[in-house]
Amino acid sequence: MRPLRDLRVSLTDRCNFRCRYCMPKEVFGADFAFLPHHKLLTFEEITRLTGLFQELGVRKVRLTGGEPLLRKNVDDLVRMLNDIGVDDIALTTNGSALNSDLAKRLKTAGLRRITISLDSLRDEVFMAMNDVHFPVSKVLAAIEAAKEADLNPVKINMVVKKGWNESSILEMADYFRGSGCILRLIEFMDVGSTNGWRLADVVTAEEMVSLIQTHWPIHKLPPNYAGEVALRYEYEDGQGEIGVIASVTQAFCGACTRARLSPEGKLYTCLFGANGLDLRALLRSGASDDDIRLAIHNAWLNRDDRYSELRSSLTFSRTKVEMSHIGG
Ligand code: SAM
Ligand code: SF4
Ligand code: SF4
Repeated sequence: MRPLRDLRVSLTDRCNFRCRYCMPKEVFGADFAFLPHHKLLTFEEITRLTGLFQELGVRKVRLTGGEPLLRKNVDDLVRMLNDIGVDDIALTTNGSALNSDLAKRLKTAGLRRITISLDSLRDEVFMAMNDVHFPVSKVLAAIEAAKEADLNPVKINMVVKKGWNESSILEMADYFRGSGCILRLIEFMDVGSTNGWRLADVVTAEEMVSLIQTHWPIHKLPPNYAGEVALRYEYEDGQGEIGVIASVTQAFCGACTRARLSPEGKLYTCLFGANGLDLRALLRSGASDDDIRLAIHNAWLNRDDRYSELRSSLTFSRTKVEMSHIGG
C-alpha cells in the first residue's frame, strides 16, 4: 500500500477565472449549478477531518479549489490547521485576490508555501487562457506580495497547452530565473470531462526541458522527498531551479501519496476519480472520530488508482471529477 502523506483540500468549486483548460465558459456558464454554501465543509469540519487524516499519516496539507481565496478568511482556516499541528500548509491560487495584507495574514497564520498560477507574461495570451480578461500585471503583483510576506520560494504553475502558450515558455523561464521563484511547467492534463483534452495538445515535459536546455543549460536534481510531483532541474549558471510536471508522459502513480477532499466533503483517492466517499454525511450524522478514521483508512486501503499509468483513449473519455471541483 502506498502511504498516505498529503491531503489536498478544495475549498470551493467556484472560480472567477474560466481557464480554457479547466473551466471552459461554454460549460461553466451563468446557469452552472455550483454548490450552495450549506453543502461546503465548514472550517471546523475541515479541521476535524484533517486531524483524522494526520493520525493516518498525512503531513502536508494543500488548500486549493476552484479558487480557494474566494472563501472568506482563509487565514482563519490556516491558523486552525496550524493549531492542530499541521506544519506544512500550502496554498494554490490564481493570485487574483492576493494582496500584501492577505499574504502577510496567511503567513502569520502559519502558511508555509504558496503556488501562484500564471500561464504567460503576455496579456493577449494570458487573457485568452483565463478567458475573463484578467491582466498579467495583477498576478505579478500577487507574486511580489507573496515574496514580501516571505512565502518563499514562491512556485509559479504554468500549464502549457499546444498552440496557446508554448511560445511563452522561454520568456517565463527568463523572467523567473534568478528571481527566487520556482517556475513549474505543467503538461496539459485530461482532468475532468469538459476541457476537450487531446493528446495532440500536450507539449511534453521532454520538449519543454529541451527548449530550456537550448538557452540555459540545466541538470536534474534529486527529489526533495519521495513522491514529489515535479521533476526538479537546476540552472547551471546558478540562477535557481525550474520544475516540470509530466503527469501525462511520465506517470508517477506508483509514488502517489495524495488524498483529496472535495468542497462538499467527498474523499477522492485519485485526481481522475469519478466518485468520492461522502465524509460530510458521516460528519453531519454524528459519527465518532473512530468511525470516520476507519472509513478513511478503508478507502485508502482499497485504493488501486493508477489512472495516469493506464491512460488510453478508453480512460480519458470516462466521466471524472472536474479539476475545478477537486483541485490540482
Ligand atoms: N484556482 C487555483 C489556481 O488556478 O491556481 C487553484 C486550483 S487549480 C485547479 C490548480 C492548478 O491546476 C493550477 O495551477 C492550474 O493551472 C492547474 N490545472 C488546471 N487545469 C489543468 C489541466 N487541464 N492540466 C494541467 N493542470 C491544470
Ligand atoms: Fe480557476 Fe484555477 Fe481552474 Fe483557472 S485553473 S479556472 S484559476 S480553478
Ligand atoms: Fe495519483 Fe491518480 Fe495521479 Fe496516479 S493518476 S498520480 S494515482 S492522482
